[in-house]
Amino acid sequence: MSRFFSSKYEKLVPYTPGEQPKNMKYIKLNTNESPFPPSEKAVAAAAEIAKTLQLYSDPEVTPLVEKMSEVFGVDKDEVLMTNGSDEILNFAFMAYCDKDHPAAFPNISYGFYPVFAEINNLPYEEIPLREDFTINVDDYIGINKTIFIANPNAPTGIALPVSEIEKIIKSNPDNVVVIDEAYVDFGAESCVPLIKKYDNLLVTQTFSKSRSMAGARLGFGIANKKLIQDLNTIKYSTNPYNINRMTMAAGVGVLCDEEYTKKNCQTIIENREYTVKELKKIGFEILDSSSNFIFAKHPNKDGKEIYLELKERGILVRHFDKPLLSQYNRITIGTKEQMQALIDNLKEMVK
Ligand code: PMP
Repeated sequence: MSRFFSSKYEKLVPYTPGEQPKNMKYIKLNTNESPFPPSEKAVAAAAEIAKTLQLYSDPEVTPLVEKMSEVFGVDKDEVLMTNGSDEILNFAFMAYCDKDHPAAFPNISYGFYPVFAEINNLPYEEIPLREDFTINVDDYIGINKTIFIANPNAPTGIALPVSEIEKIIKSNPDNVVVIDEAYVDFGAESCVPLIKKYDNLLVTQTFSKSRSMAGARLGFGIANKKLIQDLNTIKYSTNPYNINRMTMAAGVGVLCDEEYTKKNCQTIIENREYTVKELKKIGFEILDSSSNFIFAKHPNKDGKEIYLELKERGILVRHFDKPLLSQYNRITIGTKEQMQALIDNLKEMVK
């Protein structure tokens, strides 16, 4: 730290992204990316618009917002596009949390939530999950806090039904409830239809997972238009050109190829079910995942040891060196071949 760094960030512990190895070719199952390339329509559209990169991007992201409104069945003013969903989550912390509206989220969830709270100097409460890693909805009823829930949750993969989430939204009418649906396309139910019914609901999603565009950085929020106006105030006060021209074009391209996205999600779901079945046969305990990853532990082998040994064997998974989580590894679901390699290696390791 330099002697110039503001004391307000003295204690800030930044988010640790998953490893992006440069030195060696791993089977990369550690950051929940898609194993499939982006849609050809996305790639072609990005390449074409690259010829006009001398121009700023459109701050209103017009063609993409139009396409979003068509695909998601919402009005154009109910959508905000952001630089990854990380950006809209940060905007939501900035816009809706303060000392009268502290943030609240599960103690085991997306690791960026406490970082967003800290960097914005906001009070927050981490609400423990049940012992089986499920969210107890009763803990969120009428708590009068700005609530952030990842559904499905990460790194557990466990989803709540919309009917349960609705109870939380309904019982906190004077606070915003943010449902982070980064992984919703792999088997969970979306809360998007509820935005017409509740003015305190913000749903966030991403193009990073089901739409194979993690490197393009594209996320979005869907909510009542007044919430979108607030979030636009934050956006226009930080970075009006948050979506670059190539990302915008690629976003339109992939939304014109929903069949491709659906097919890939279906394949990931099938590969997940296969992996779970095979790993259970050799003794792994796996939480019930509705995501493109699984959270798994083995009764006879330490979680960190599994992570390190897999890494040596050229397979990268995500290990969290934290109480409650350290016996587990989060494993992204890849292609059938990648999962077979994982299964074969784990079979050798635990026998
Ligand atoms: N929410 C959750 C639960 C995540 O795991 C991630 C991915 N790290 C994000 C949001 C953010 O993803 P992105 O910024 O790529 O949209």
